[in-house]
Amino acid sequence: MTFKALIVEKDNEGKTRASVQEIDESRLPEGDVTVAVEYSTLNYKDGLCLTTGGGLVKTYPHVPGIDFAGTVESSSDPRWKPGDKVVLTGWRVGEIWWGGYAQKARVKGDWLVPLPEGLTTRQAMAVGTAGLTSMLAVMALEDHGLKPGAGPVLVTGAAGGVGSVAVALLAALGHEVAAVTGRPEAEAYLRGLGASRIVPRAELSEPVKRPLESETWAGCVDAVGGVMLARVLGQLKYGASAAAVGLAGGAQLNTTVIPFLLRGVNLLGIDSVMQPYENRVRAWNRIARDLPMDKLEAMVQPATLADLPALGQAILKGQVKGRVVVDVN
Ligand code: NDP
Repeated sequence: MTFKALIVEKDNEGKTRASVQEIDESRLPEGDVTVAVEYSTLNYKDGLCLTTGGGLVKTYPHVPGIDFAGTVESSSDPRWKPGDKVVLTGWRVGEIWWGGYAQKARVKGDWLVPLPEGLTTRQAMAVGTAGLTSMLAVMALEDHGLKPGAGPVLVTGAAGGVGSVAVALLAALGHEVAAVTGRPEAEAYLRGLGASRIVPRAELSEPVKRPLESETWAGCVDAVGGVMLARVLGQLKYGASAAAVGLAGGAQLNTTVIPFLLRGVNLLGIDSVMQPYENRVRAWNRIARDLPMDKLEAMVQPATLADLPALGQAILKGQVKGRVVVDVN
Protein backbone atom coordinates (compact mmCIF):
# COMPACT_ATOMS: atom_id res chain seq x y z
CA MET A 1 0.00 0.00 0.00
CA THR A 2 1.37 3.40 -0.94
CA PHE A 3 0.28 6.96 -0.24
CA LYS A 4 1.21 10.49 -1.25
CA ALA A 5 3.42 12.58 1.04
CA LEU A 6 5.42 15.77 0.90
CA ILE A 7 8.93 14.65 1.77
CA VAL A 8 11.75 17.02 2.74
CA GLU A 9 15.22 15.59 2.07
CA LYS A 10 18.62 16.98 2.99
CA ASP A 11 21.64 16.61 0.67
CA ASN A 12 25.30 16.21 1.64
CA GLU A 13 25.82 19.97 1.58
CA GLY A 14 23.00 20.41 4.11
CA LYS A 15 20.54 21.83 1.56
CA THR A 16 16.91 20.77 1.91
CA ARG A 17 14.51 19.96 -0.94
CA ALA A 18 10.79 19.28 -0.66
CA SER A 19 8.84 17.17 -3.18
CA VAL A 20 5.62 15.17 -3.37
CA GLN A 21 6.37 11.43 -3.47
CA GLU A 22 4.43 8.17 -3.44
CA ILE A 23 5.76 6.21 -0.48
CA ASP A 24 5.12 2.82 1.06
CA GLU A 25 2.98 2.53 4.19
CA SER A 26 5.76 0.54 5.87
CA ARG A 27 7.70 3.82 6.14
CA LEU A 28 5.17 5.30 8.56
CA PRO A 29 6.66 5.75 12.04
CA GLU A 30 5.66 3.83 15.18
CA GLY A 31 2.40 4.90 16.80
CA ASP A 32 -0.94 3.72 18.18
CA VAL A 33 -3.29 5.34 15.70
CA THR A 34 -3.17 5.55 11.90
CA VAL A 35 -5.17 8.43 10.48
CA ALA A 36 -6.35 8.95 6.91
CA VAL A 37 -5.54 12.65 6.69
CA GLU A 38 -8.07 14.85 4.91
CA TYR A 39 -6.74 18.36 5.48
CA SER A 40 -3.66 20.02 6.87
CA THR A 41 -2.65 23.65 6.92
CA LEU A 42 0.27 26.09 6.91
CA ASN A 43 1.59 27.76 10.03
CA TYR A 44 4.70 29.89 10.51
CA LYS A 45 6.51 26.85 11.98
CA ASP A 46 5.61 24.82 8.89
CA GLY A 47 7.43 27.46 6.88
CA LEU A 48 10.58 26.63 8.87
CA CYS A 49 10.10 22.85 8.62
CA LEU A 50 9.53 23.10 4.84
CA THR A 51 12.74 25.11 4.27
CA THR A 52 15.75 25.24 6.61
CA GLY A 53 14.25 23.08 9.35
CA GLY A 54 14.73 26.05 11.69
CA GLY A 55 16.38 23.82 14.31
CA LEU A 56 13.02 22.07 14.75
CA VAL A 57 13.53 19.09 12.41
CA LYS A 58 16.12 16.63 13.69
CA THR A 59 16.11 13.83 11.10
CA TYR A 60 15.56 13.50 7.33
CA PRO A 61 13.76 12.43 5.19
CA HIS A 62 10.95 14.28 6.94
CA VAL A 63 7.22 14.85 6.47
CA PRO A 64 6.27 18.31 7.84
CA GLY A 65 2.79 19.52 8.78
CA ILE A 66 2.30 20.49 12.44
CA ASP A 67 -1.43 19.81 12.33
CA PHE A 68 -4.03 17.74 10.53
CA ALA A 69 -7.64 16.57 10.62
CA GLY A 70 -8.93 13.26 9.29
CA THR A 71 -10.50 9.89 10.04
CA VAL A 72 -9.03 7.10 12.16
CA GLU A 73 -8.15 4.15 9.94
CA SER A 74 -6.79 1.76 12.59
CA SER A 75 -6.01 2.04 16.27
CA SER A 76 -4.55 0.01 19.13
CA ASP A 77 -5.56 2.78 21.56
CA PRO A 78 -8.94 1.93 23.15
CA ARG A 79 -9.98 5.61 23.09
CA TRP A 80 -9.98 5.72 19.27
CA LYS A 81 -11.69 3.46 16.74
CA PRO A 82 -11.81 3.32 12.93
CA GLY A 83 -14.15 5.98 11.57
CA ASP A 84 -13.58 8.52 14.39
CA LYS A 85 -13.02 12.06 13.12
CA VAL A 86 -9.96 13.53 14.82
CA VAL A 87 -7.80 16.64 14.97
CA LEU A 88 -4.14 16.90 15.85
CA THR A 89 -2.15 20.02 16.72
CA GLY A 90 1.19 20.34 18.49
CA TRP A 91 3.16 17.71 20.43
CA ARG A 92 6.02 18.45 17.99
CA VAL A 93 4.30 16.47 15.26
CA GLY A 94 5.64 17.75 11.92
CA GLU A 95 8.91 18.67 13.71
CA ILE A 96 10.46 15.64 15.41
CA TRP A 97 7.64 13.33 14.29
CA TRP A 98 6.24 12.93 10.78
CA GLY A 99 3.31 15.27 10.32
CA GLY A 100 0.20 16.06 8.33
CA TYR A 101 1.53 16.76 4.83
CA ALA A 102 0.58 13.26 3.69
CA GLN A 103 -2.46 11.13 3.02
CA LYS A 104 -1.65 9.06 6.11
CA ALA A 105 -0.17 9.82 9.51
CA ARG A 106 0.65 7.54 12.43
CA VAL A 107 0.69 9.16 15.88
CA LYS A 108 0.12 8.55 19.60
CA GLY A 109 -3.50 8.41 20.70
CA ASP A 110 -2.65 10.90 23.48
CA TRP A 111 -2.08 13.62 20.92
CA LEU A 112 -5.51 13.47 19.26
CA VAL A 113 -8.71 15.30 20.12
CA PRO A 114 -12.15 14.51 18.71
CA LEU A 115 -13.26 16.76 15.86
CA PRO A 116 -15.47 19.29 17.65
CA GLU A 117 -19.17 18.96 16.99
CA GLY A 118 -20.30 21.44 14.36
CA LEU A 119 -16.94 21.63 12.53
CA THR A 120 -15.88 19.79 9.38
CA THR A 121 -12.30 18.53 9.02
CA ARG A 122 -11.72 21.33 6.50
CA GLN A 123 -13.00 23.99 8.91
CA ALA A 124 -10.85 22.51 11.69
CA MET A 125 -7.78 23.02 9.52
CA ALA A 126 -8.90 26.49 8.46
CA VAL A 127 -8.60 27.15 12.20
CA GLY A 128 -5.49 24.97 12.65
CA THR A 129 -2.75 25.54 15.20
CA ALA A 130 -2.78 29.28 14.48
CA GLY A 131 -6.48 29.62 15.25
CA LEU A 132 -6.42 27.27 18.23
CA THR A 133 -3.63 29.42 19.66
CA SER A 134 -5.69 32.57 19.09
CA MET A 135 -8.51 30.97 21.05
CA LEU A 136 -6.12 30.02 23.88
CA ALA A 137 -4.91 33.63 23.92
CA VAL A 138 -8.46 35.01 24.09
CA MET A 139 -9.33 32.54 26.86
CA ALA A 140 -6.24 33.67 28.83
CA LEU A 141 -7.23 37.34 28.41
CA GLU A 142 -10.76 36.51 29.60
CA ASP A 143 -9.39 34.54 32.57
CA HIS A 144 -7.50 37.73 33.49
CA GLY A 145 -10.60 39.89 33.41
CA LEU A 146 -11.08 41.04 29.80
CA LYS A 147 -14.74 41.82 29.09
CA PRO A 148 -16.48 43.39 26.09
CA GLY A 149 -16.87 47.13 26.57
CA ALA A 150 -13.52 47.52 28.34
CA GLY A 151 -12.01 49.30 25.34
CA PRO A 152 -10.17 48.37 22.15
CA VAL A 153 -8.30 45.06 22.04
CA LEU A 154 -5.19 45.14 19.89
CA VAL A 155 -4.21 42.28 17.56
CA THR A 156 -0.69 42.39 16.11
CA GLY A 157 0.34 40.59 12.91
CA ALA A 158 -3.36 40.88 12.16
CA ALA A 159 -3.42 39.73 8.54
CA GLY A 160 -1.49 36.54 9.39
CA GLY A 161 -3.03 33.27 10.57
CA VAL A 162 -3.04 33.84 14.35
CA GLY A 163 -4.01 37.48 13.83
CA SER A 164 -6.90 36.85 11.42
CA VAL A 165 -8.58 34.32 13.70
CA ALA A 166 -8.02 36.55 16.75
CA VAL A 167 -9.63 39.53 14.98
CA ALA A 168 -12.69 37.49 13.97
CA LEU A 169 -13.05 35.85 17.39
CA LEU A 170 -12.70 39.03 19.43
CA ALA A 171 -15.11 40.93 17.19
CA ALA A 172 -17.67 38.10 17.39
CA LEU A 173 -17.35 38.16 21.19
CA GLY A 174 -18.34 41.83 21.18
CA HIS A 175 -14.94 43.50 21.55
CA GLU A 176 -13.80 46.58 19.71
CA VAL A 177 -10.81 45.33 17.70
CA ALA A 178 -7.79 47.31 16.55
CA ALA A 179 -5.66 45.46 13.99
CA VAL A 180 -1.96 46.15 13.47
CA THR A 181 -0.76 45.37 9.98
CA GLY A 182 2.21 46.17 7.77
CA ARG A 183 0.01 45.56 4.72
CA PRO A 184 -2.21 48.59 3.99
CA GLU A 185 -3.88 46.57 1.23
CA ALA A 186 -5.24 44.20 3.91
CA GLU A 187 -7.48 46.90 5.42
CA ALA A 188 -10.74 45.80 3.73
CA TYR A 189 -9.99 42.17 4.61
CA LEU A 190 -9.41 43.02 8.29
CA ARG A 191 -12.48 45.24 8.49
CA GLY A 192 -14.45 42.36 6.95
CA LEU A 193 -13.27 40.11 9.79
CA GLY A 194 -14.50 42.66 12.32
CA ALA A 195 -11.66 45.13 12.98
CA SER A 196 -12.97 48.63 13.58
CA ARG A 197 -9.56 50.30 13.56
CA ILE A 198 -6.40 49.69 11.53
CA VAL A 199 -3.04 50.56 13.13
CA PRO A 200 -0.15 50.81 10.64
CA ARG A 201 2.79 48.63 11.70
CA ALA A 202 5.10 51.65 11.52
CA GLU A 203 3.28 53.20 14.53
CA LEU A 204 4.66 50.45 16.75
CA SER A 205 8.03 49.82 15.09
CA GLU A 206 10.20 52.27 17.05
CA PRO A 207 11.84 50.94 20.24
CA VAL A 208 10.55 51.98 23.66
CA LYS A 209 11.53 55.57 24.52
CA ARG A 210 9.08 56.22 27.37
CA PRO A 211 8.17 53.23 29.57
CA LEU A 212 4.59 54.47 29.89
CA GLU A 213 2.54 55.84 26.98
CA SER A 214 -1.15 56.76 27.09
CA GLU A 215 -3.41 53.96 28.33
CA THR A 216 -5.00 52.72 25.12
CA TRP A 217 -5.59 48.96 24.92
CA ALA A 218 -7.90 46.82 27.08
CA GLY A 219 -5.93 43.76 25.96
CA CYS A 220 -3.67 42.45 23.21
CA VAL A 221 -3.16 39.24 21.24
CA ASP A 222 0.42 39.56 20.07
CA ALA A 223 1.77 37.41 17.22
CA VAL A 224 4.79 39.65 16.59
CA GLY A 225 6.87 39.99 19.79
CA GLY A 226 10.05 42.08 19.73
CA VAL A 227 9.80 45.87 19.61
CA MET A 228 6.06 45.79 18.98
CA LEU A 229 5.24 43.86 22.15
CA ALA A 230 7.57 46.08 24.16
CA ARG A 231 5.67 49.16 22.94
CA VAL A 232 2.26 47.58 23.56
CA LEU A 233 3.12 46.83 27.22
CA GLY A 234 3.53 50.57 27.82
CA GLN A 235 0.18 51.31 26.13
CA LEU A 236 -2.01 48.80 28.04
CA LYS A 237 -4.75 50.19 30.27
CA TYR A 238 -4.42 49.78 34.03
CA GLY A 239 -4.62 46.05 34.94
CA ALA A 240 -4.90 44.91 31.31
CA SER A 241 -3.06 41.93 29.77
CA ALA A 242 -1.13 41.12 26.62
CA ALA A 243 -1.03 37.49 25.46
CA ALA A 244 2.39 36.72 23.94
CA VAL A 245 1.78 34.22 21.16
CA GLY A 246 4.47 34.71 18.52
CA LEU A 247 7.75 36.14 17.37
CA ALA A 248 7.14 37.05 13.72
CA GLY A 249 8.88 40.38 14.41
CA GLY A 250 11.58 39.13 16.77
CA ALA A 251 12.30 37.16 19.93
CA GLN A 252 14.02 39.91 21.95
CA LEU A 253 11.97 41.88 24.44
CA ASN A 254 13.68 45.12 25.45
CA THR A 255 11.49 46.94 27.88
CA THR A 256 11.26 48.04 31.53
CA VAL A 257 9.31 46.68 34.47
CA ILE A 258 7.54 50.05 34.90
CA PRO A 259 4.21 49.07 33.19
CA PHE A 260 4.02 46.03 35.49
CA LEU A 261 4.76 48.06 38.63
CA LEU A 262 2.75 51.22 37.95
CA ARG A 263 -0.13 49.87 35.89
CA GLY A 264 -0.37 46.28 37.11
CA VAL A 265 -0.39 44.97 33.55
CA ASN A 266 0.11 41.27 32.79
CA LEU A 267 2.14 39.46 30.16
CA LEU A 268 0.53 36.06 29.53
CA GLY A 269 2.54 33.33 27.82
CA ILE A 270 0.58 31.20 25.35
CA ASP A 271 1.79 27.75 24.30
CA SER A 272 -0.29 25.50 22.08
CA VAL A 273 2.18 22.64 21.66
CA MET A 274 2.08 21.01 25.12
CA GLN A 275 -1.39 22.29 26.08
CA PRO A 276 -3.19 19.66 28.22
CA TYR A 277 -6.02 17.65 26.64
CA GLU A 278 -8.84 19.24 28.70
CA ASN A 279 -7.87 22.76 27.73
CA ARG A 280 -7.50 21.80 24.06
CA VAL A 281 -11.01 20.37 24.05
CA ARG A 282 -12.29 23.46 25.87
CA ALA A 283 -10.64 25.72 23.27
CA TRP A 284 -11.95 23.69 20.30
CA ASN A 285 -15.47 23.76 21.72
CA ARG A 286 -15.24 27.54 22.18
CA ILE A 287 -14.07 27.85 18.55
CA ALA A 288 -17.03 25.80 17.30
CA ARG A 289 -19.35 28.03 19.35
CA ASP A 290 -17.82 31.51 18.99
CA LEU A 291 -15.97 31.74 15.66
CA PRO A 292 -18.32 32.77 12.84
CA MET A 293 -17.87 30.25 10.02
CA ASP A 294 -18.45 32.83 7.27
CA LYS A 295 -15.54 34.89 8.65
CA LEU A 296 -13.40 31.74 8.82
CA GLU A 297 -14.19 30.95 5.19
CA ALA A 298 -13.17 34.50 4.21
CA MET A 299 -9.66 33.76 5.53
CA VAL A 300 -9.16 30.55 3.55
CA GLN A 301 -6.70 30.11 0.72
CA PRO A 302 -6.97 26.52 -0.63
CA ALA A 303 -3.78 24.61 -1.52
CA THR A 304 -2.44 21.17 -2.42
CA LEU A 305 0.69 19.33 -1.26
CA ALA A 306 2.50 20.50 -4.40
CA ASP A 307 1.91 24.17 -3.48
CA LEU A 308 3.59 23.85 -0.10
CA PRO A 309 7.29 24.42 -0.91
CA ALA A 310 6.51 27.88 -2.33
CA LEU A 311 3.97 28.67 0.41
CA GLY A 312 6.53 27.72 3.07
CA GLN A 313 8.88 30.40 1.78
CA ALA A 314 6.06 32.94 1.48
CA ILE A 315 4.87 32.57 5.10
CA LEU A 316 8.39 33.19 6.40
CA LYS A 317 8.40 36.49 4.49
CA GLY A 318 5.03 37.49 6.02
CA GLN A 319 3.36 37.22 2.61
CA VAL A 320 0.60 34.74 3.41
CA LYS A 321 -2.77 36.29 4.26
CA GLY A 322 -5.19 34.46 6.55
CA ARG A 323 -5.20 30.68 6.61
CA VAL A 324 -4.01 28.18 4.00
CA VAL A 325 -6.02 24.94 3.94
CA VAL A 326 -4.19 22.01 2.35
CA ASP A 327 -6.27 19.27 0.76
CA VAL A 328 -3.77 16.39 0.92
CA ASN A 329 -5.78 14.07 -1.36
P1 NDP B 1 1.81 34.36 9.79
O1 NDP B 1 3.04 34.52 8.98
O2 NDP B 1 0.56 33.90 9.15
O3 NDP B 1 1.48 35.75 10.53
C1 NDP B 1 2.48 36.57 11.08
C2 NDP B 1 2.12 38.02 10.79
O4 NDP B 1 3.00 38.87 11.52
C3 NDP B 1 2.33 38.43 9.34
O5 NDP B 1 1.24 38.10 8.51
C4 NDP B 1 2.49 39.92 9.46
O6 NDP B 1 1.20 40.50 9.64
C5 NDP B 1 3.23 40.06 10.81
N1 NDP B 1 4.68 40.22 10.62
C6 NDP B 1 5.51 39.44 9.90
N2 NDP B 1 6.77 39.88 9.98
C7 NDP B 1 6.73 40.98 10.78
C8 NDP B 1 7.72 41.89 11.24
N3 NDP B 1 9.01 41.77 10.91
N4 NDP B 1 7.33 42.90 12.05
C9 NDP B 1 6.03 43.06 12.40
N5 NDP B 1 5.04 42.23 11.98
C10 NDP B 1 5.39 41.19 11.19
O7 NDP B 1 2.18 33.38 11.00
P2 NDP B 1 1.20 32.67 12.06
O8 NDP B 1 0.03 33.56 12.27
O9 NDP B 1 1.03 31.25 11.72
O10 NDP B 1 2.12 32.73 13.38
C11 NDP B 1 2.40 33.98 13.99
C12 NDP B 1 3.40 33.79 15.11
O11 NDP B 1 2.81 33.03 16.14
C13 NDP B 1 4.66 33.05 14.68
O12 NDP B 1 5.79 33.61 15.33
C14 NDP B 1 4.41 31.64 15.18
O13 NDP B 1 5.58 30.94 15.42
C15 NDP B 1 3.65 31.92 16.47
N6 NDP B 1 2.81 30.82 16.91
C16 NDP B 1 2.94 30.43 18.21
C17 NDP B 1 2.16 29.43 18.70
C18 NDP B 1 2.25 29.09 20.14
O14 NDP B 1 1.88 27.99 20.54
N7 NDP B 1 2.71 30.01 20.97
C19 NDP B 1 1.25 28.67 17.85
C20 NDP B 1 1.09 29.23 16.51
C21 NDP B 1 1.89 30.26 16.07
P3 NDP B 1 0.77 41.83 8.84
O15 NDP B 1 1.09 41.58 7.41
O16 NDP B 1 -0.68 42.00 9.13
O17 NDP B 1 1.61 42.95 9.44
